[in-house]
Order: sequence, then C-alpha cells, then structure tokens
Amino acid sequence: MMFERHYDIVIIGAGPAGLMAGIESYRPSRKILILEKMPRPALKLRISGKGRCNITNYASLNEFLSHFGKNGRFLKFAFAEFFNTDLLEYFEKLGVVFKLEQGGRYFPQNDKASGVVEALLTRVKALKISLVTRSEVTGISTSPEGKFLVSINKKNSDGSKTGQSIHTEADNVVVATGGKSYPGTGSTGTGYKLAAHFGHTVTPVMPALVPIETKGDTAKKLQGLSLRNVKAKILVNNKKVDERFGEMLFTDFGVSGPIILSLSGNIVKLLQEKQPVFLSIDLKPALDHEALDKRLLREINENSRQSFKSLLKKLLPRKLMPVFIEALKISEEKQLNQLANEERKRLRMLLKEFSFEVSGYRSFDEAIITSGGVSIKEINPQTMESKLVKGLYFAGEVIDIDADTGGFNLQAAFSTGWVAGRALCRTQNPGGVVI
Ligand SMILES: Cc1cc2nc3c(=O)[nH]c(=O)nc-3n(C[C@H](O)[C@H](O)[C@H](O)COP(=O)(O)OP(=O)(O)OC[C@H]3O[C@@H](n4cnc5c(N)ncnc54)[C@H](O)[C@@H]3O)c2cc1C
Repeated sequence: MMFERHYDIVIIGAGPAGLMAGIESYRPSRKILILEKMPRPALKLRISGKGRCNITNYASLNEFLSHFGKNGRFLKFAFAEFFNTDLLEYFEKLGVVFKLEQGGRYFPQNDKASGVVEALLTRVKALKISLVTRSEVTGISTSPEGKFLVSINKKNSDGSKTGQSIHTEADNVVVATGGKSYPGTGSTGTGYKLAAHFGHTVTPVMPALVPIETKGDTAKKLQGLSLRNVKAKILVNNKKVDERFGEMLFTDFGVSGPIILSLSGNIVKLLQEKQPVFLSIDLKPALDHEALDKRLLREINENSRQSFKSLLKKLLPRKLMPVFIEALKISEEKQLNQLANEERKRLRMLLKEFSFEVSGYRSFDEAIITSGGVSIKEINPQTMESKLVKGLYFAGEVIDIDADTGGFNLQAAFSTGWVAGRALCRTQNPGGVVI
C-alpha cells in the first residue's frame, strides 16, 4: 500500500490499545493510519489467556484499581469513562459474547481470543481506517510547521527489513507500542525510545508477572506439579513482604502459576535491590500450627502401626513425598508409633513453611507484562495526551501501569485506548507543538 503524504492521526501499534484508539478517534473524512510492524495485527491479544483472552474482571472500581498498585490512581478517570461492563457491551455490539469464570474473569463464550481480534479488525475495516502491517515506526520528529514526521521501515514477510524507508506527516500521533515482554509478538520496547526522544521520562522497565527461579534442584524434581489452595509468601530476613493464596506450579527452573506471577513484581524489585529473598509455601493454609498438630496426632494415634510413608500419602501429592522424606531425613518405613515429637514438629514446620531461596527471575521472553514505562506524571489521565508535546498520545502497556493477572491489563489497554481515541475525536488541534 502507498502511504498518503499526510494523516490526521497516526497510531503506532495494532494491539488492543492501538486498535481501540483508532476506532474511537474515527470521524468521517478523517484520515487515520494504524501502523503495525508485525505481519499480523494484535499477535499478543491472540495468545492472551492461553488463547482464550481473559478480557476483563468483574471487580468493583476500587478493587480493580488496587490490582495496579500505586499507579492505579492514574486509571481512575479512564475507568470512570470506560470500564468492565462498557467493554463487555462494546464487544457484544461487535458480536462477541462473554462468560464469567472463577476469580471474576471474563472470557469469550467460545473461548477464542481470535474472535476478539477479528471483531476489532472488522470494525477498523468498516470505518475504512488504514491498517498497514510490516511497517515499523523507527522515529518521529516535528516539522517547523508543528506536524509530526513519522519514519517507517517496511519489512519483508520473514520480518527482515526491505531497506525501504518511508516518511509520512501527521497532526496527531498515538504511541500504542506495548511493553517489552513476549518480544516475538512485536512488543520490543520501541515506544520507550520514541517517548524519550520527546523528553518523556521512562521509568525503569522490568519483566513482571514473570516466573521465578529458585536455588537447588527441589523445584526441578517437582517439575510439572501444580498445587491448588496453597499460600505462598515472600520473606526477606524472615519478615513477610507479601503473600497470595491460590494455585502455583513447579518448573525445571523454579516456580510459576497464578500466585507466583502475582508475587513476582515484588520479588523482582527486591532482587534488584540485592535483598535475600525466600519463598515460603504453606501447604495447609486452612489449618494453623495448633490445628495441624492436632490433625497429625490424630492420624498417628489412629494408624500407629502404619508407616511414615502412609501418613505422607494422606497429606501430600505423590510427587512431593520423596522430597519430604529426603528433607526430613525420616525413613519412609518408620512406624508412626515410633515417630518422635521432634520429628512430628519438623513435619508440621515443613508443611507450613516449605521454603525456597529465590535466585532470579525469567527474562522478558517469558514475562506476561512489563512494569515501568512512560511516566504517568507526564500524561494527562483525562485524554492520554502528553503533557510535554501537544498532539502526542500514549495508550496501553507502554505507559507505566501494570496489574495482576485476571483481565486487568487488557481492560487498561482498552480503556486508555478508548480515552485517547475519544479525546482525539473531539480535537481539531494540530500536533507537534512542544508545550
Ligand atoms: C502470553 C500472554 C498472555 C496474556 N494474557 C492476558 C489476559 O488473558 N488478560 C489480560 O488482561 N492481559 C493478558 N496479557 C497482557 C496483555 O496482553 C497486554 O497487557 C496487552 O496486550 C497490552 O496491549 P497494548 O495494545 O498496549 O500492547 P500490545 O498488545 O503489546 O500491542 C502493541 C503492538 O505494537 C506493535 N509495535 C511495537 N512497536 C512498534 C513500532 N515501532 N512500529 C509499529 N508497530 C509497533 C507490536 O508489534 C504490537 O502489535 C497477556 C500477555 C501475554 C504475553
């Protein structure tokens, strides 16, 4: 496709934020261009929620915001304007119906993220908004007339550069380039450079919602084991920093799964500060120490002639048994009536505090999202427009906002895209003027 010399709006990135911004900025006779560097738009959205797309969450506004940590306040206006029920209705009008699942998570009725993407693309097409793939924005500058000059590198089908560099002019630009995680989907952090070029502060970017590496080979021995209804807590110098209840998973390098991903933000921060971090897993969170001891005593008294192994069978998934036997150094054949009080105490402690020293975290390649990004202090929360450069907007994960798993991140991408689009729809302003 040939590019026009001038556009009213150029949107960089065809993820959820960019597509929403494009659709909502539409007005007849307006020339809008969405540029996407990958061969297909919204690759990350297609794989979101394991291909099922957990689009949003049932949570109330206050609870929703709390999942974003201290930067959640930035989203107050965006969510007041366009929140979870608005998003669900929006897609229902586009033909995608959602169902509510555990944890307040909404998924498409047919479990297909691709349907969400196709609905957006159909709308973009119907509005005759130009969407051009294999087009990477490599730089933006401003002309003496106050227009944005957008430099685009065209790419071959294999992703290599064609060497063809094109320039186009825009009154307004929306940076919706996403973060740095899962770079194979196209989110490689280019938006941070574009923002920094205009003097924007970019807070340090780090992998978030990321699996955690642990010392030793215990996790490897348990690889593939998923634990439900456990409590994991972060300990630094024996002090609790954070804790979560739910499901986790052991991998060949450490731990992952919902509660670990939720804790990972704090873990990454602590490791960056060079703090010694431990993860302690409570395998019996429903019982306090006293109640658990009573349960152990009852089991021992009622089955005094049985082996220690038979007791462990009642308490643990099979895969954990050899690990416990090794850690406790108690023979699996030992009769329960021979079990010393001190051995029972060690078993209780291990059930309540199954601990791992944290050695690191996985890279952006495996992180669900990116923490850090374009500083919220320099973006108007009511319009998503830069406070530094008129006509420059930001939407989605490129902004310094990130949340837990549960549909919060996609809602933020859609809501910020919606607010930017609506603000642009209202504006006639030429862009590029440094304020
Ligand atoms: C495996 C996985 C599963 C996830 N599941 C969920 C989930 O179920 N629920 C949830 O809420 N969140 C989920 N997330 C997070 C969520 O997908 C992201 O937060 C969301 O996609 C961010 O939207 P975005 O539009 O800001 O950025 P992105 O979706 O990253 O889109 C940015 C787009 O910009 C393009 N781009 C980048 N730079 C340029 C450039 N210079 N020129 C042109 N184009 C460019 C990229 O190719 C990309 O297509 C998941 C993330 C991952 C990795």
